[in-house]
Amino acid sequence: MTVQIDQAKVESVIEERHPKRVVFNAPDGLLRTTRDLASRLEKKYANLHCIIIADPTYGSCDTVDGDAQRLGGEVAFHIGHNVLVTKFGKITYSVDAFDDISFSSVTQKAVEFLKSNNLRRVGVATFAQHIKELPEVQRILADSGLNAVVGKGMGQLQDGQIFGCEFYPAYNIKDQVDAMLLLGQSMFHALGLCLSSGKPTYMLDPYLCEITDVQKAADSRLKKAILSIYKAKEADRFGVIIGLKEGQIMADQSVKIKEKLEALGKQVQLIALREITSDRIDALTDIQAFVQTGCPRISVDGYTFSKPVLSVPQTDALINLLSGKEIDTDIFVRKHWL
Ligand code: SF4
Repeated sequence: MTVQIDQAKVESVIEERHPKRVVFNAPDGLLRTTRDLASRLEKKYANLHCIIIADPTYGSCDTVDGDAQRLGGEVAFHIGHNVLVTKFGKITYSVDAFDDISFSSVTQKAVEFLKSNNLRRVGVATFAQHIKELPEVQRILADSGLNAVVGKGMGQLQDGQIFGCEFYPAYNIKDQVDAMLLLGQSMFHALGLCLSSGKPTYMLDPYLCEITDVQKAADSRLKKAILSIYKAKEADRFGVIIGLKEGQIMADQSVKIKEKLEALGKQVQLIALREITSDRIDALTDIQAFVQTGCPRISVDGYTFSKPVLSVPQTDALINLLSGKEIDTDIFVRKHWL
């Protein structure tokens, strides 16, 4: 596997803007490649200094435009989330990165599997690094007599692309297909695809040439998520947490949630946090349950919080429950979880 960062784009921005100081942020998996790129750029462009922000970044919600400016950066590059928007904030450019692994073998294997299970109409989705592989996978499936559908892009998402919290291309085709395929070795994205589409979902891992049915794991996440809602129902004192990452700040939505919970008899305090961790939750000692409008996956992916910490879809279900309605098992079947 080789992940290639779009160096030409970085260089064209540098040659157009002539910065003396540039700032990078990249996911952990691309940190080393990004550092190598920064070293090459410093050699190529006289008087250029590159600063790597080595904090983790999990999505295009987690840019560092403000930090980059405080560091004196004239330009910043957010690497690897391959979104349709080209700029964030004042100085940050989105730079794509692609993995060159081929999906041919695992797709051939999937054809046999899908046919033997009579799954003839499949939705195909993937995440940033494998977007370029979608047409080839779709072609192999179609040549094998299967109906392979790739949903149209929307917002930041390209055709067939999903985030961990936004699923428009897949969600919009869910009623046309028998099952979903997630290209790539990412249980995180496969679970999101399964829960948001409500369809049987199979992860096609090109490295191991394996097909994984993720339904059991998705059911387990859903069960835990629903259990948290019932636990939160019993709480009197709530915290509504606003995520402080640049693309996550949802203050207005959080205020509305506070007002709704208060109208249902709960005491609510608004809290803001950059990292929503067990330690920070435990530090807020008297609050019995939390809602958070930052990253929904913090609530969904089995973090070991000592108290309920609900995502937005869970919060909507809680509000319904407190209003006398039952919880449906399709709480996550949505275009996005924000
Ligand atoms: S909010 Fe969470 S799931 Fe959504 S893009 Fe950001 S890190 Fe990914």
